[in-house]
Amino acid sequence: MRLSAYFLPLLRENPTEAQIVSHRLMLRAGMVRQSSAGIYSWLPLGFRVLQKVEQIVREEQDAAGALEVLMPTIQPAELWRESGRYEDYGKEMLRITDRHEREMLYGPTNEELITDIFRGAVKSYRDLPRNLYHIQWKFRDEVRPRFGVMRGREFLMKDAYSFDLDAKGAKHSYNKMFVAYLRTFARMGLKAIPMRADTGPIGGDLSHEFIILAETGESAVFCDKAWLQTDVLGTDVDFNGDLEPFFKKWTSLYAATEEMHDPKACPVPEDQLVSARGIEVGHIFNFGTKYSKPMKAVVSGPDGAEIAVEMGSYGIGVSRLVGAIIEACHDDAGIVWPESVAPFKVGLINLRAGDEKCRTAADDFYKKLNAAGVEVLYDDRDESPGVKFSAMDLIGLPYQVVIGPRGLDKGVVEFKSRRDGKREEMSPEAALNRLST
Ligand code: ATP
Ligand code: MG
Repeated sequence: MRLSAYFLPLLRENPTEAQIVSHRLMLRAGMVRQSSAGIYSWLPLGFRVLQKVEQIVREEQDAAGALEVLMPTIQPAELWRESGRYEDYGKEMLRITDRHEREMLYGPTNEELITDIFRGAVKSYRDLPRNLYHIQWKFRDEVRPRFGVMRGREFLMKDAYSFDLDAKGAKHSYNKMFVAYLRTFARMGLKAIPMRADTGPIGGDLSHEFIILAETGESAVFCDKAWLQTDVLGTDVDFNGDLEPFFKKWTSLYAATEEMHDPKACPVPEDQLVSARGIEVGHIFNFGTKYSKPMKAVVSGPDGAEIAVEMGSYGIGVSRLVGAIIEACHDDAGIVWPESVAPFKVGLINLRAGDEKCRTAADDFYKKLNAAGVEVLYDDRDESPGVKFSAMDLIGLPYQVVIGPRGLDKGVVEFKSRRDGKREEMSPEAALNRLST
């Protein structure tokens, strides 16, 4: 992509409405614009990151055997009356009346809708287990939308729903998602700690939140000090094998959200306990028959008797993750994207757009990168080097290649790694090699 033809409205100054660094940087880097409180448009650079995050989430859900669907954003109120949540949900639910006076709502989550789909289609235990997920916009009329996309009113969520015949099967489905979540966040370069969590209005008894420790996090959390030295790595697993050992391993060290933390009953001695703030990027629930019973989602079991299915739901805040990644990955100059979610892999800077030799060399390098399938943003504008350098640092692409007249005389380009700021001179071929592997 040539920057001269791109839409990248950068801001020089820190916007006053942004209180946390990720919100400031997303506005400054031209990733998003607010349209009304807690509702954002995603501009080209931000949208690319959102799609990368979404794709990692999708690949790991697919690997765990979940099947992608797409449910609508607008749902009928009747379904929520069946579960009893229409009244319970309160003001966070955006309620709509259509021209025929039918009550509708903009979905804040999809337990009722998926249960309705399931009960209409699955009648026998032979068709279990199943896990269906979608990646779709949600609306929650939050009292205090803030921190940009971190607490929006409209936000993108991945929500998966599992259906099993019995509690044992449901725990296996829960474990699959638990492991998929560890892998998902690790691929984004994040350390998300699974913490015992309250189930809130979703219901049920077994629940974990995946939390990234950050001073700006909205959740108060408690965990064993040893977590600070523990890397949560994505493990390679056979999803059909026994996942209980993984679950035990990653839940053996104490970690709990404020709601679940009881100082009197805490197994960790005070000097070994960390009290911190965190960002909730995922939340998984096992809630048994909370929805299947009232909504009559039943299958006939092996002996012909009707059984209400055991369910779980599993959410990931896809749009919140974009902010959370920036909270975890930035420096004074701007964003420092992990390669897996970077909008482009490399920024190519032509130091002298007006110089024939520089332009030919930079154009040629740009063509070669494209041919090699390397995602590149090419700053071909007629701007000063200072403006170009600070723009590239701000948007945080993992690598920069700088082509200038002095280097060209020696047959070299400058290769810079954004993370450590290390600069090296090398031939264009060597730079191309580095980037295409
Ligand atoms: P929170 O406690 O932050 O309000 P929640 O517990 O109500 O979140 P869940 O119902 O568990 O949210 O939703 C699943 C995921 O969706 C959360 O883990 C979070 O990452 C994301 N999410 C929830 N609310 C918002 C929001 N207002 N803006 C952006 N992402 C959100
Ligand atoms: Mg939650």
